[in-house]
Amino acid sequence: MNSWAEVAIPPLAERFVIPPLKIFETAHRSLRPIAKKDKYRIYVCGITPYDATHLGHANTYLAFDLINRYLLATGSEVLFVQNITDIDDPLLERANRDGVDWHDLATSQIDLFRSDMVALHVIPPAHYIGAVEAIPLVIDAISALELSKTVYKVAEDFYFQVRSDPDFGTRSHLSEKEMLEIFSQRGGDPQRAGKRDPLDALLWLAQREGEPGWDSKYGVGRPGWHIECCAIALGYLNIDPNQPTSIDIQGGGSDLIFPHHEMSAAQGKAMNGREFAEFYIHAGMIGLDGEKMSKSKGNLVFVSQLLKEGVDPMAIRIALMSSHYRKDHMWKQADLHSAQALLSDLRIALSRMEVAPTDHVITEIISALSQDLDTPLALSALQNWIVATNKGGSGGQPGELSRAIDALLGIAI
Ligand code: ZN
Repeated sequence: MNSWAEVAIPPLAERFVIPPLKIFETAHRSLRPIAKKDKYRIYVCGITPYDATHLGHANTYLAFDLINRYLLATGSEVLFVQNITDIDDPLLERANRDGVDWHDLATSQIDLFRSDMVALHVIPPAHYIGAVEAIPLVIDAISALELSKTVYKVAEDFYFQVRSDPDFGTRSHLSEKEMLEIFSQRGGDPQRAGKRDPLDALLWLAQREGEPGWDSKYGVGRPGWHIECCAIALGYLNIDPNQPTSIDIQGGGSDLIFPHHEMSAAQGKAMNGREFAEFYIHAGMIGLDGEKMSKSKGNLVFVSQLLKEGVDPMAIRIALMSSHYRKDHMWKQADLHSAQALLSDLRIALSRMEVAPTDHVITEIISALSQDLDTPLALSALQNWIVATNKGGSGGQPGELSRAIDALLGIAI
């Protein structure tokens, strides 16, 4: 699958010290510093392409773009991989409901997602991989799980025994009752007869009537969602056998903590004996009018719609960054207006010949980001600099500040 257009990242002057990024880690439920490494391996779960790209998606990909940018600013290499679930139940259900071909629906939404990411100035993944093209990797992954004796059949479908991982549940911290409830709400099948444990995860679904299927040694069918991500991550992130975990960061929205990330992690561990990720990182949910933004409620705000209305994509970026990435919050039109005002003031201030000192504000932005990506604090530092500049402050280097906010915050002036 083609990724999207490359984003140029301006260099930061070497005199700016970049401390280790402290980030909230879901499994430990605390802030943890990401230790300095030459190369980081990041896997972020992509969309299922039937409703791209609403602001909840944008908030998640923006958060991981900020992590990517910060780690790149430390001088390290980042290998960033993202999937796209281009075959799954919700996609088929939507295509059936709307009377369109599932493949055409997926293709149109993937194109839209790519153009939204370009507009929002999100760094593209090195590998952007679809579930369909990953089927050979998934088959290899199921074969590896078979070797670990964690696979069984129900009718013609294959399942993974989640309890084979002694750490199952330790990343998401839910009670058994909560796990069962959430599993059934998010595509799981805890009620299915024949399963050894209601929470066991589907690996390979045999072809159903009227649905697509791909030939494999497990019969004609299609991959389960959790094994898809596990197989793509392990297949494309150049796993280093000397590292204690398979990858450095597994990320996505907080609605993926369970079952998706817990189950991907358990499968990864069964495959190679190591914890799947060192850091499990999750972005909050965006709501509208008092409710979570979701397909089922139909209260989605689309990036493409805002762009069509003439909203500057950098204002969307700033509006999302005006709340903390981890906080569930409501999308408000007033936030967009404030973001547009800040963007306009920033452009005017940066175009002046004389500007307030810039070293301090750049250091403040770095410091704010280093503390769990505190973008509201970084934006307020920028606001203070604009006020100081408008009051006649001098001695700063507008070009250097402009490059720094592009590199670190992804705001292209
Ligand atoms: Zn995933």
